Amino acid sequence: MTIRRSAFLRNLALGLGASVLFAACGGGAPTADGGGEAAGDILKVATEPAFPPFEFQADGGELDGFDIDLMKAIGAEAGVEIQFESLPFDGIIPALQAGTVDAAISGMTITQERLNTVDFSRPYIKAGLAIAVKAEDTATTSLADLEGKRIAVQIGTTGADQAAEIPGAVISTFDSAPLALQELANGNVDAVINDAPVTLDAIASGNINGLKVVGELLTEEFYGIALPKGSPNVEVINTAFAALIENGTYTEIYQKWFGTEPPELPESAF
Ligand code: GLN
Repeated sequence: MTIRRSAFLRNLALGLGASVLFAACGGGAPTADGGGEAAGDILKVATEPAFPPFEFQADGGELDGFDIDLMKAIGAEAGVEIQFESLPFDGIIPALQAGTVDAAISGMTITQERLNTVDFSRPYIKAGLAIAVKAEDTATTSLADLEGKRIAVQIGTTGADQAAEIPGAVISTFDSAPLALQELANGNVDAVINDAPVTLDAIASGNINGLKVVGELLTEEFYGIALPKGSPNVEVINTAFAALIENGTYTEIYQKWFGTEPPELPESAF
């Protein structure tokens, strides 16, 4: 899959930027062998690789994307080997709870609800939900226009939560965002609610045809790396991430995928 970064996407990334402060993380250095279950040499990291430009399978089958580059850089900085494991998005939190993976990077929004069951790193990028409709649809301009409409979403996502609140909406759920968008392109639903950067990338790259994004961003969301509750790796990851911000690696990765300077990030999502 070829990912083309359009001016549209760049503008979106800029627009998402705004005004929060990139504060250095105050965590101490990781102690390689302290804490019993501390990182160790290998970190098993789950991802659902159908969410470009954050994670996807390149033509050769290998994982690629912003999240993948960032996680590899965090691993290199922390001195741990990253082993990715592909999982369905709605299987990631159960896998963290069961302890079959050590962490997950998958465009996952830090939400209060998820914080009941998992921990998150500090926010690593800002995103938000957007509505997609057919290019010729001039009637849909906001959430209110979706009442009673057919909406496709990816299962287990913040987009699915948002759609569930729309009165009378008939919701179809799909395992991945591209499948939900394809359902819209096929004319089987009226709209998709999904993360804006991913929908815009699908349109800009030509992976899905005949769609457009309407209205404003519905939400402001921050993605975080998810970990089992109480994992000592939260600190390991946050410390490495802070170093990547300081030494310019984060900016490099951000520019590679979004073509702009990264916006400033808050230290916590709430
Ligand atoms: N950011 C959305 C969520 O966390 C979607 C994530 C995804 O589909 N990979 O629910």
